[in-house]
Amino acid sequence: MIKTMTETKQCTHIGDDGKQCGAWARHDKAFCYRHDPESRELSLEASRRGGLAKEIEIETPLEAIPVSTAKDVVTLITRTINEVRAGTLDPRIANTIGYLAGHLIRAFEVAELEGKVEEVRAVLIGRKPFKKG
Ligand SMILES: [Zn+2]
Repeated sequence: MIKTMTETKQCTHIGDDGKQCGAWARHDKAFCYRHDPESRELSLEASRRGGLAKEIEIETPLEAIPVSTAKDVVTLITRTINEVRAGTLDPRIANTIGYLAGHLIRAFEVAELEGKVEEVRAVLIGRKPFKKG
């Protein structure tokens, strides 16, 4: 067999649909990472663990951040974004934080509205009826 000049080839795996795999074969191999029997187990294991991305292990729990205002939520979300971008926070945890932060924002909105309703009520109760003449 004559070797071609380039070592990069398309994966020779044929899928159930009869189409050839579109990925590049591994260096000097006939198959890509997913279809090479040597790496297939590793690939399946990675898939089972939620993708090829390396899991981030958190050794020390994150410190508590006081969240009592909408502004605190902005700080929390900003920190979370930065930690995910720096690779120090598992994106799944960030997802949960984002989800809960959304609930917090809505709760603050409701609390603020309730406060305003109370103010309006206090003004209305304190108002004297109009006198004729
Ligand atoms: Zn392949």
